[in-house]
Amino acid sequence: MQGRPLRTTVIGSYPFPGWLEFACAHLDQFGEDDVREMQEDAVIAAVHDQAAAGLDVITDGEQTRLDFNLSFYGYLEGIRMEPAPGRRFGPPAHDQRGKHAVTGELAAPRGLGVVAEFERLRRVAPAGPALKASVPGPYTLSGRLAPNRQYPDRWAIAEALAPIVRGELEALVAAGCREITVDEPSMSCYAYREDPRRFVDLFNRTVEPAAGRCRLSTHLCFGNYKGRAVGPRRYAPMFPAFLEMRVEEIHLEMASREFAELEIIGDIARKMDVAAGIIDVKSYYLETVEDVAARVRRCLEYAPPERLSFAPDCGLSQTARWAARAKLRSLVEGVGRVRRELGIG
Ligand SMILES: [Zn+2]
Repeated sequence: MQGRPLRTTVIGSYPFPGWLEFACAHLDQFGEDDVREMQEDAVIAAVHDQAAAGLDVITDGEQTRLDFNLSFYGYLEGIRMEPAPGRRFGPPAHDQRGKHAVTGELAAPRGLGVVAEFERLRRVAPAGPALKASVPGPYTLSGRLAPNRQYPDRWAIAEALAPIVRGELEALVAAGCREITVDEPSMSCYAYREDPRRFVDLFNRTVEPAAGRCRLSTHLCFGNYKGRAVGPRRYAPMFPAFLEMRVEEIHLEMASREFAELEIIGDIARKMDVAAGIIDVKSYYLETVEDVAARVRRCLEYAPPERLSFAPDCGLSQTARWAARAKLRSLVEGVGRVRRELGIG
């Protein structure tokens, strides 16, 4: 069970500072040491904002996953970066990210880089908040790789990636990481057309080395690239199958869906902790402290405080930093208000 009733937490990503985006576009002008320093400075900024908001759990904001070479795909052998997506103009959407070609055996001999991210976070984080690492699950990670003759469909690619993710989870636990989210938003996006039990089987085999050795959670949203969803925003197709996931906590997106299917958090809470997304990362309406408190009280109609945590709907990477800061402050203050009402310290 979680450390504190009504815990405040986040999904991994946080907006990049403007200078980081600018630097990203000119990385060829930076030396290796410059890049290392820049990555650490960016993490310091993300950690600062989260700690200043007063969150119980913080992440590194995924500030170092800033271009192809520094993201997971840069760690993978057997792929070739797609030069450009098919559609480069027009309204922003996930098809503008394109897919990388698989050219050989998929492998990651250096791991996926998350251990280094966690160690950097531990180095710069203040004492107090719990530290969480985020790793994409194999199904989500497979989404940007194009099937070929060796790996004929997305499932085959995901199965090939599962041991790589498994190795990363094992290494994270060995490095002392106590809390890991395995992000699988692609599972929630496509549960309507796949067998949800097959998702759970893949997920559970993937997390096996970390299960019982750290606090494991998963994040199930409906997509947020450029602030756009890609799946039909219903949790019903996933349940009850997803209750068999080997995790301590399931995170669901509720705010942007106007709390539809909120009763699901009650079903989850009978088995494990549930993190409710109560901050809409896609809207520039800034939730007030009272909005948050009202949403927390609403969740308490379905699940007990010791089972509940609260977070934004998704990572904040697609939300402007000024808004992200304001939203996190309201999240923490609103949850704090309900804690006081309930006499929880
Ligand atoms: Zn998400």
